[in-house]
Amino acid sequence: MHVLALGSGQLARMMSLAGAPLNIELSAYDVSNGNIVHPLTQTVLGSGLDNAIANADVITAEFEHIPHHILDLCEQSGKFLPSTAAIKAGGDRRIEKALLDNAGVRNAKYAVINTREDFTHAIEHVGIPMVLKSALGGYDGKGQWRLKDAADIETIWLQMADCIASSDNQAIVAEQFVPFQREVSLVGARGKDGSIAVYPLAENVHTNGVLSLSTAIADQALQEQAQQMFAAVAGSLDYVGVLALEFFDLDGQLLVNEIAPRVHNSGHWTQQGAETCQFENHLRAVCGLPLGSTKLVRETAMINILGEDTLPAELLSMPGCHIHWYGKEKRAGRKMGHINVSGDYSGELQRRLCALAEVLDGEAFPAVHDFAKQFSA
Ligand code: ATP
Ligand code: MG
Repeated sequence: MHVLALGSGQLARMMSLAGAPLNIELSAYDVSNGNIVHPLTQTVLGSGLDNAIANADVITAEFEHIPHHILDLCEQSGKFLPSTAAIKAGGDRRIEKALLDNAGVRNAKYAVINTREDFTHAIEHVGIPMVLKSALGGYDGKGQWRLKDAADIETIWLQMADCIASSDNQAIVAEQFVPFQREVSLVGARGKDGSIAVYPLAENVHTNGVLSLSTAIADQALQEQAQQMFAAVAGSLDYVGVLALEFFDLDGQLLVNEIAPRVHNSGHWTQQGAETCQFENHLRAVCGLPLGSTKLVRETAMINILGEDTLPAELLSMPGCHIHWYGKEKRAGRKMGHINVSGDYSGELQRRLCALAEVLDGEAFPAVHDFAKQFSA
């Protein structure tokens, strides 16, 4: 089987690693320059999307911000999964919000803003405090504003107006601020036959708007809520592949924050913690193979490596720790890799996270240090 991935970042890289044992080969389309590359080495394999489409058995995507004419080309080939509609919903918050409403899943009250008058209506309808997000192009908390005080309305409007004017079809989605206790996400796969296999929920900690720590949790009541919403969203899209839902946990009630029509950073823990990892299950789904078990085999957490390209060597000798580098050039704040850490019995994962806090730099890994402080308090 040959799979072409749209996007050539770490998600395509990890799909490629997971596909090899099943004889599933990947090549990746670098959207920024049009090259077809090997997802592990970034070696240029050729150029021209048409050829790559013709040579692929299946086409999929590793991210949602893909120009629509490219999506249309892929869709026309009849090989693209999950679907253009799913990718567009993940890449445009207006479509995403409408999708959530149509699927009947709870999400924060919202309004779409194109003009200053729309902003006034949004303030009346949604209320202050509110979170304002660009409809297109947002990721890792970028393209967002917080309106907490009416005194800031005009200042924020000027910035939003610039954003709206900066690209075609751009708008702002105003969302009610949700005073959540924590954030969780559900990653799962839906096969061509409609079968669904979801992983245990992950609890997610963000640092400066970027995911920093993600831990698989066991919470029966939340898991059931999340699974129901997953089935509703995936079913409404007739989705095939891995899909992630991000939630706010507000007093034990889940609200969907957003969806990601792809493998997700909060599912990286599955590489060590689940019987079949999310990357393999995505490939199985889009290739029409049976889904693999999503059973938790070891309590596991994932720590993002942000803006660092070296780690203390002793980490490699720590039991239960696995490092995954992405082979990227160092840049401040960039996702450079992740560490998966597992424990075999109750309390062991927590102790190992505390041991990691001893060797990891406090400025680079604040979430691990915060965890260790809370745990030992
Ligand atoms: P990512 O790519 O990391 O998922 P993003 O840029 O797509 O981020 P969101 O997930 O929508 O953006 O928002 C980033 C973070 O901002 C959320 O994880 C959450 O902590 C906070 N946030 C977003 N929307 C709200 C809201 N309505 N109320 C409260 N906090 C919010
Ligand atoms: Mg998010």
